[in-house]
Amino acid sequence: MTKKTLIIVESPTKSRTLARFLGDGYELMATMGHLRNLPKTKLGVDVKGNFKPQYVLIESKKAVIDQLKKASRVAKQIFLATDPDREGEAIAWHTVKILGDTAAPIHRISFHEITRQAIEEALKHLGKIDMHLVDAQQARRVLDRLVGYQLSPLLWRKVRLGLSAGRVQSVALRLVVEREQEIGKFKSEEYWELWAELKGQPEPTFLAKLVKIEQKTAAVKNQTTAQKIVGELQKAAWQVAKIDRKEVHRASHPPFTTSTMQQRAAQKLYFSSRKTMQVAQQLYEQGLITYHRTDSFSLASQAVVQIRRYINSVYGANYLPLEPRVFKTRSKVAAQEAHEAIRPTRLKMPQEKLHRDEMRLYKLIFNRTVASQMAAAVYDQTKIHVQAGSQYRFLAEGRVIKFLGWLKIYSDKIARVSQVNQKAELPKLAEGEKLKLVKLDPQQKFTQPPARYNEASLIRALEQRGIGRPSTYAPIISTIQARQYVERKERIFSPTNLGVTVSNFLVRYFPEVFDYDFTAQLEDQLDEVARGERRWQPVIKEFYQPFTKQLAKVMKESQRVKIPVEKTDQKCPQCQKGDLIVRVGRFGKFLACSRFPECRYTSNFIEKIEGIKCPDCGGEVVIRKTRSKRQFFGCSRYPQCRWASWRDPRKMLAKKSAAKNKLTST
Ligand SMILES: [Zn+2]
Ligand SMILES: [Zn+2]
Repeated sequence: MTKKTLIIVESPTKSRTLARFLGDGYELMATMGHLRNLPKTKLGVDVKGNFKPQYVLIESKKAVIDQLKKASRVAKQIFLATDPDREGEAIAWHTVKILGDTAAPIHRISFHEITRQAIEEALKHLGKIDMHLVDAQQARRVLDRLVGYQLSPLLWRKVRLGLSAGRVQSVALRLVVEREQEIGKFKSEEYWELWAELKGQPEPTFLAKLVKIEQKTAAVKNQTTAQKIVGELQKAAWQVAKIDRKEVHRASHPPFTTSTMQQRAAQKLYFSSRKTMQVAQQLYEQGLITYHRTDSFSLASQAVVQIRRYINSVYGANYLPLEPRVFKTRSKVAAQEAHEAIRPTRLKMPQEKLHRDEMRLYKLIFNRTVASQMAAAVYDQTKIHVQAGSQYRFLAEGRVIKFLGWLKIYSDKIARVSQVNQKAELPKLAEGEKLKLVKLDPQQKFTQPPARYNEASLIRALEQRGIGRPSTYAPIISTIQARQYVERKERIFSPTNLGVTVSNFLVRYFPEVFDYDFTAQLEDQLDEVARGERRWQPVIKEFYQPFTKQLAKVMKESQRVKIPVEKTDQKCPQCQKGDLIVRVGRFGKFLACSRFPECRYTSNFIEKIEGIKCPDCGGEVVIRKTRSKRQFFGCSRYPQCRWASWRDPRKMLAKKSAAKNKLTST
């Protein structure tokens, strides 16, 4: 029997794709993820022995490990072909540790797309395991273990049994909690916008908004003022004061990084970041896209050539900029790890049979990549400054698209939008031209509090603060939800009472550890470890010593905190004495008796929407969930009444009343 080269990867899909490009001389095996990990039942870090991690074999991987060992003994050589980042490097390293001394030489091969060309290239460059990357992964693992493992007992004693808190997740939770507090403190203020419908010589009429009163920015605070101005404006002479016309260029976005892909998929496909990563993983492992954990904007020069050729043949030379577009990557790490943005490996729709979600994400990536190399869109922008009487300045803005450029890819949608938004085009007026007032429209408005985070804006906030990394956004966001610290309703995140309590406790007693900048600095230090500029143990030591000191102090000195309960107006049906309150458990909200533990009554929590009645029968409107956890609104008298709606009836009501508030005067 001739000896074969054993190639070890993480997943069966990846090994199937690889097998297509490799001949008979290769055997492929998958580790199915990590093989070793820190132990489940103890800290597993020797804090006195320079933080040496005490890895143990993962119980469920016994069979896989046996097979790997057996195959490695008869292999000619072993190639470790795990993913091109810290996690992949660590899996490769653990595999070597587990295989021990094999007679066969072991090499690391690395590629960030699973294509014939990339594999052939990788096979020509046999390398070694990059211990800097492994160390960066170990450092994160150890740090998170130290924090998580030691904070838990504190939370159990001071807040509630069974809680846990992660290092970076708690900082993300803090963002959500603080946003909620800002919203709570926000005082909405009334203001008025004044719109004038005006007509010049040429048709059609156009809308202009009051922007200045006596050279100062217009600030109309109440109806009395608004009506006084309306009165003066009705007698005023109107005239075009000035017209500014200019050409505006709008360049395309850079190709996707992990963070921007997650944001876009959340906005366009309503994917959670976790789902986006699962689907992207499938696409990557099938060889259809480049590696999906990256913060690089750059494209391989070979890919750029192909994209430009594609643009030229599909859209024409007009759509091709003279020079390829180059995007600067913000991250310092990118140069070392996954080296490219996320792009399709071929410029065509895949022949593989893809699931619907895979196809949707693939198209998103495909379009974004091609658009990134296309010419800018060009608009004619017109600003008409209108003088009314001696003291009022109005402004009308119009934007007409002259050349679609990269928007061509998305042009179906744009055509639909511009049909709705006809005000984009302004009539051809002349400076000094007299105008006729057709109608004045004062609109009552209220300043809005900052918006709660959604999937996309939370990822953006994490990235902007330097807190997340391509491999961590999705786990951060799913963990704070899984722990019931944050609720996601209608794709909007808000903290639970439990989340607020835990976050406030942590931030109060560990102001440093859960500080935004401190967390960002620690992430930077891990990047330095990955680049070989810093050793990992000192990073941990510097963190750990003050942390344990503080931990002991808080354990001794802090008071136990209470999680505020959400009350209902119902009595406990079992003991008739207690009140029913809403508690948050591992699987979400439930109703319980306030006299717990004397009374152990619990029941399912059904959230009622106050002040809204079922349109069919007048019953209560309640929030329900489908089996796939999607939220909808239904009638409390189900199954007698079968009314149901995806849309929030509160929002529909709010829209109606907003329309009513609009006061019109002519
Ligand atoms: Zn009770
Ligand atoms: Zn009903």
